[in-house]
Amino acid sequence: MPHVVVVGGGLTGLTVAFRLKQFAPGAAVTVLEPRDRPGGNVRTEAHRAFRVECGPNGFLDRTPAVPDLVRDLGLSGQLVAASEGSRKNRYLFLDGKLRKMPRGPLGLLTTPLLSFRGRWKLLTEAWRKSAPPARDESVQEFVTRRAGPEAANVFADALVTGIHGGDPALLSVGAAFPRLPVMEREAGSVVRGFLRASKQRKRDAKERGEPAPGPMRMWSFRDGLQVLTDALAAQLGGAVKCGVAVQSMSEAASMGAWQVDTASGKPLAADAVVLACPAYEQAAILADLDAPLAAEIGAIPYNRIAVVALAYRQEHCPARVDGFGYIAPQNTRRDVLGVQWCSSIFPDRAPPGFVLWRALCGGVHRAEQVEWDDDRLAKAVHEEMKLAMGVTGEPVFRRIARWPAAIPQYVLGHLDRVARIDALAARHRGLFLTGNAYRGVAMADCVEQAGLVAAKVAQFVQHSA
Ligand SMILES: Cc1cc2nc3c(=O)[nH]c(=O)nc-3n(C[C@H](O)[C@H](O)[C@H](O)COP(=O)(O)OP(=O)(O)OC[C@H]3O[C@@H](n4cnc5c(N)ncnc54)[C@H](O)[C@@H]3O)c2cc1C
Repeated sequence: MPHVVVVGGGLTGLTVAFRLKQFAPGAAVTVLEPRDRPGGNVRTEAHRAFRVECGPNGFLDRTPAVPDLVRDLGLSGQLVAASEGSRKNRYLFLDGKLRKMPRGPLGLLTTPLLSFRGRWKLLTEAWRKSAPPARDESVQEFVTRRAGPEAANVFADALVTGIHGGDPALLSVGAAFPRLPVMEREAGSVVRGFLRASKQRKRDAKERGEPAPGPMRMWSFRDGLQVLTDALAAQLGGAVKCGVAVQSMSEAASMGAWQVDTASGKPLAADAVVLACPAYEQAAILADLDAPLAAEIGAIPYNRIAVVALAYRQEHCPARVDGFGYIAPQNTRRDVLGVQWCSSIFPDRAPPGFVLWRALCGGVHRAEQVEWDDDRLAKAVHEEMKLAMGVTGEPVFRRIARWPAAIPQYVLGHLDRVARIDALAARHRGLFLTGNAYRGVAMADCVEQAGLVAAKVAQFVQHSA
């Protein structure tokens, strides 16, 4: 029976293993995870009557990948959609005030966030002819070229801060937001590309006899996101081994095709190995086997993030918020990157009479904040809450989670680097690389990639059986 070892029990590794069991039922699968619990970044904690997400807060139904996985795990009944208000009401913290992000053409036409000239540049994007440069283009450059410098300064930063906690001048638009250059190429503009994609989705739904699809939504589960990774781990049962860190791997003549060395026990033999741990760990594992490959993978940088969740009594919050939260663009160098109003986004995150909010601190420009002690972090965030939200009382509860290597940064040249990694990795039969370092950082990207990798591994083990 072929044996596949999956290194890393985060969302990606668990999904690879779960799909592999379906695609190649004849294969044995082992998932190795150094922590005492699977799930990786996905971690929900219950503290008194508060439910705190320490990592991701929700997933988008941008592709069917996560909804399909949820259905296959029998979890559809536990899903909760983000509130309508959180879809519509998103804010920026600029010049000491919360300012609503515009929605739709009318919102853009009237937004006070841009001057008349800035609004005109943005609204005429659909007709702008401007050839992309021959080299990789940053998010900042792309938005400036398409929609003008004002839109870039306000929206590119907000977009990148909200999703990547990165710097729009450093991130590659083709890697971080691959749909944008494709829309420009295929539809002549981003605005037209979005309109075309929306019409296509409606046509596809009609052909399938389904109702017209609504706008993209964010989802979680009644008991939090960890429901998903817990369910995956439960389905995999004894195949998930916690407390096992992989140190290295080598080609083995006498065992399977591969020997996987762990910090804690005897080596494992495997016919195929899927590395689904963070890039810097993949690099360390591959260092002796293939130094050039390890160097390329190890060069993918990560940012640092501290998640600071604070709860307040409702009576101490003058504004009853109905929205997603706000972003404090990184170029304003505030003590928070953004704040998610968790108890407004999803129900039951806080008991009646209280609110639960979480701030993300750090990112590429304030990385040192992750080193701050809990009191200093909580105080800094509380000060921001007084300023932005007008809170009048002390927090009744706090929980702080630190992610010293949080979100991989798809910097300029990322796509070329991934192509070089693919070419180098292809020299090793039975080695598969995946995880959020390569082709998308969102949970939806991880699940989608995991399904594709599982299909490739299944084909490999079936052909080499
Ligand atoms: C603070 C934060 C907020 C986020 N918010 C959102 C959000 O709201 N929505 C969204 O879609 N995405 C969000 N993301 C991104 C998303 O959570 C991640 O991209 C995704 O969960 C990554 O899953 P993964 O399995 O690829 O990696 P990980 O979750 O990093 O899992 C990798 C696993 O590998 C294990 N490992 C490490 N070293 C070894 C080793 N030597 N041997 C074996 N295993 C090893 C680790 O312990 C870990 O469990 C957020 C991320 C962070 C950090």
